[in-house]
Amino acid sequence: MTAMVIDGKAVAASLRRETAARVTGLSFQPGLAVVLVGEDAASQVYVRNKDRAATGAGIAARTLRLPASTSQAELLAVVRGLNDDATVDGILVQLPLPRHIATEAVLDAIDPAKDVDGLTPTNAGLLAAGRPGLVPCTPLGVMKLLAAAGVALAGMRALVLGRSVLVGRPMASLLTGADATVTLAHSRTRDLAAECRRAEVLVAAVGRAHMVRGDWVARDAVVIDVGINRMPDGTLAGDVHFAEVAPHAGAITPVPGGVGPMTIACLLENTVTAALARRGAAPVR
Ligand code: NDP
Repeated sequence: MTAMVIDGKAVAASLRRETAARVTGLSFQPGLAVVLVGEDAASQVYVRNKDRAATGAGIAARTLRLPASTSQAELLAVVRGLNDDATVDGILVQLPLPRHIATEAVLDAIDPAKDVDGLTPTNAGLLAAGRPGLVPCTPLGVMKLLAAAGVALAGMRALVLGRSVLVGRPMASLLTGADATVTLAHSRTRDLAAECRRAEVLVAAVGRAHMVRGDWVARDAVVIDVGINRMPDGTLAGDVHFAEVAPHAGAITPVPGGVGPMTIACLLENTVTAALARRGAAPVR
């Protein structure tokens, strides 16, 4: 049997509609500030999409475009200004930053209450401790896709491939919080293929096109492909070899049209969550 293809576009569109409806019901307009340093082509596209999606949901979005020559001190001053700006509920600093800027120092400077990317040590620590906080958008989106696909995670063997601060680590924490039995694999993992084959849920976040082959995936496994890899012909490919895996997996996300749209939808949701929490209207998740 061929896998059910999990339609991230449809799930994301539904979440965006829900978020827009929540915004309509508010007595104030939530604000999102996106900071882009430099000219990275992919980042420019991501930032434009985020700005457009936020505006579409009724959020007051603004993008601060800073030259690649911006110093760390200047960027920190911009972030602190946004921390102090009462009209801003969410701050997102688009990564990667130019090499002369220490990413951690910038993330450390973001007010955790406005950290809609969930990357400050405060929010990362809360998530690791299983406590409420702002959760990174991509792994949060994966959890929503799994829920939409009706995957009952409790007791399942899950494998997360990739241990980045942005995706893999928070993903493992969220799956653990949902009572899955989680393995976190990375470049030093021995016999990765065998580890993957044991998984009932496999989340690939590596950044290597088609690395997860058909014989790495167990029959009926649920496969979530976070990878976005630009191929030489300009098309996008995931970390999973879709054509080899789909015939025997239980469910699978496509690339594009899987996790990608969820990341932006969750950013909008996080912005509303942060806006409400800052006003004491609702606790963060
Ligand atoms: P990073 O480069 O930060 O992390 C990659 C991880 O994969 C590391 O933990 C690394 O291990 C591991 N890895 C690399 N090569 C191998 C290998 N050969 N075998 C096993 N493990 C390996 O990437 P990100 O987490 O930021 O992103 C991963 C992918 O997800 C990328 O394609 C990115 O574009 C995509 N992405 C998609 C998003 C979306 O919205 N859909 C959002 C964010 C990212 P080690 O730690 O040992 O080096």
